[in-house]
Amino acid sequence: MTSFEDLPIRDDLRGRSPYGAPQKSVPVALNVNENTHPIPEDVAHDIVARVAGAILKLNRYPDREFTELREAFARYLGHGLRAEQIWAANGSNEVLQHLLQAFGGPGRTALGFAPTYSMYPLLSAGTGTEWISADRDAGYELSAETAVAAVRRHDPDLVLLCAPNNPTGTPLSIDTIRAVADAARGIVIVDEAYIEFADPGTPSALTLLEGRPRLVVSRTMSKAFAFAGARVGYLAADPAVVDALRLVRLPYHLSALTQAAALGALAHSDEMLAMVADIRGQRERIERELAALGFSPYPSGSNFVLFGGVDDPRAVFEGLLERGVLIRDIGLPGTLRVTAGTETETTAFLEALAAFAPARVSAN
Ligand code: PMP
Repeated sequence: MTSFEDLPIRDDLRGRSPYGAPQKSVPVALNVNENTHPIPEDVAHDIVARVAGAILKLNRYPDREFTELREAFARYLGHGLRAEQIWAANGSNEVLQHLLQAFGGPGRTALGFAPTYSMYPLLSAGTGTEWISADRDAGYELSAETAVAAVRRHDPDLVLLCAPNNPTGTPLSIDTIRAVADAARGIVIVDEAYIEFADPGTPSALTLLEGRPRLVVSRTMSKAFAFAGARVGYLAADPAVVDALRLVRLPYHLSALTQAAALGALAHSDEMLAMVADIRGQRERIERELAALGFSPYPSGSNFVLFGGVDDPRAVFEGLLERGVLIRDIGLPGTLRVTAGTETETTAFLEALAAFAPARVSAN
């Protein structure tokens, strides 16, 4: 059988593995940080009506500039943002890919702080950008001093700051973001995929955009908006950044169906985001109850929790799966990661995990 390694594939893609979080049909799936609450039915009906309207016009290409959608995102984000400052694509993965295509590429570098989102190195590889991985402080924190020292040492063309960080959940302080934005020569991307789950009062990097034309804030509808299946990500930046991205996007990259669906969801943003506080509550419950079971949860500003104190992550992962609960082994020794689900799903996870609790194991 032919493997891709036998083909005349690019040398820099040899030996790499594709993104591959398991997609299994299980009663309780808490492995890819989705919002596990379904879309409210009245919102779904409005989205269907809008998509139906778009279908009648599918003989024509969609609005290449997705103007109405950019206006809706600017309104949703606030902070005085204008539509010219907004870009969108099929998931924030594609938004990040556009940024790497425009500002990275052969002979250029992108810097990140490991462990961080696993797609950053893959997107870098796909665009021929050299990925540089710098270290974090103890407990996966990232201080302004540590981050700026790495920026000075490597002088990257792009910096990727994940705020809060996936897979660790670690919040990133606005001081670190500001310090990196002011020290870096290149483009600084703040990936705020999970920012809606941060503790109330946490400032967004959107507050730093004014006067910083190389700063980019990336967002997604996949998490807080419960819209992962629709594939809609977006960013806010200086209009010049948006102009650069027009050079690398495929024409009409956002389908008319995607635009209609996203506009429908944004028209009901309050309802779509209504579950965020509930999910944050379940995340806090997970942190509390894991600690009581004898595990070591890391502080999280997101909708998931990384926890240590797991002697055999593979065995616990498999044990939970046998009980119908899918979580994530992200390969950090002694840890596992779980998404905060509905109250019922979270209960199912905690009850299944209790069988593997260090507190119980040492009591036996
Ligand atoms: N950034 C981070 C930190 C993520 O965890 C994810 C998804 N897991 C993404 C970006 C991409 O999400 P999407 O393409 O669905 O917007």
